Amino acid sequence: MTAGPTPLPPAVSQVMAEPMTYHRAPAFIEVYARVLDRLKAVFQTRNEVQVFTSSGTGALESAVANLVRPGESALVASCGKFGERWAELCEAYGAETVHWETEWGRRVEPAALDEELAKHGGVEVVFTTFSETSTGVVNDVRELTEVAHRHGALIAVDAVSGLGAVPFRQDDWGVDVAVAGSQKALMAPPGLAFASANEAALERASANPGRRYYFDWARTVSGQRQDPPDSPFTPAVGLVKALDVALGMIESEGLDQVFERHALLGRATREAAKALDLELLGGTPDENANVVTAMVLPESVDGGKVPKLMRDRFGITIAGGQGRLKGRIARIAHCGYFGAFDIIVTVSALEMTLRELGHDAEPGAGVAAAQRVFSDAGVALHA
Ligand SMILES: *Cc1c(COP(=O)(O)O)cnc(C)c1O
Repeated sequence: MTAGPTPLPPAVSQVMAEPMTYHRAPAFIEVYARVLDRLKAVFQTRNEVQVFTSSGTGALESAVANLVRPGESALVASCGKFGERWAELCEAYGAETVHWETEWGRRVEPAALDEELAKHGGVEVVFTTFSETSTGVVNDVRELTEVAHRHGALIAVDAVSGLGAVPFRQDDWGVDVAVAGSQKALMAPPGLAFASANEAALERASANPGRRYYFDWARTVSGQRQDPPDSPFTPAVGLVKALDVALGMIESEGLDQVFERHALLGRATREAAKALDLELLGGTPDENANVVTAMVLPESVDGGKVPKLMRDRFGITIAGGQGRLKGRIARIAHCGYFGAFDIIVTVSALEMTLRELGHDAEPGAGVAAAQRVFSDAGVALHA
């Protein structure tokens, strides 16, 4: 129950046991071409979605390596641990970095971004996060994009945990760059990263050559755009095959149904938290925060013990807090291959764990609250 690596559907695991294929053999090229198309459907874009062999951070690094010019101004709008990563990358690539932080647990406010950009003239690129996995917050990327564009800046969005869990429409929203990874809502193993850059972003990259090689967008885009598509370097064949199966499952379930399922999983988890007298991080429940639910643990509970007891006693892996939130929150993720009973079982174990640690909540109260959400929805919620 953590936000990645997430559980694999059996069919995804099985395809990786097949014999290895040569990456230029027709049998693989067919899979590769299909994966590239299926990725476009998930990003809701006509861009070439570039596939790299790396963890998600590689795609973030590709964005910075291609967009940042030493000495030019970049603004990082962060609201948690992953947002900070953009700032570290911008520093590493020599940007004149403005790191504007929003309190962890709150969303990045578009109006406040507008003020920041007005205050620091000449920002060329805004870097921000769609789903901030460390806090559960999902930002309004559509509005943030509008604001960035109004100030003449491009926007690059880390959608690693949000893509495939909550609605994200890259082209409709005009998002210049979106990056993601394979091991979260996309139900594939870790090891693939994706960067979807529009023409404006690709132009900026071309006007800014050098200081990158594997992550050079022009090289990857021109390879992938050949017919049949070609990868400039050996792709991770087994992972691409796994991703093909996983994206095929998303396609058959239907992207909107996938979002609806995540919405229910998120709502049920929030209702369970409420029933257990646990505050949500940031206070206000957000109907769009359906990737990870971050609950503030009561002062009386030794927070660090919650994930440990959950694992040792019940075999359920949840996450605690990162960075400044260490020991203060528990995070239950529900992005990817999850159904109603994953939540119900996890909440049940959480109730027993908290009880053992001295938090006095009615046993079954959280489970009942989650059950109500699922049974009222009246839809199929199994894999
Ligand atoms: C998981 C994650 C990443 C990427 O992490 P890797 O360990 O490099 O795969 C980046 N941003 C967010 C928001 C994430 O959830």
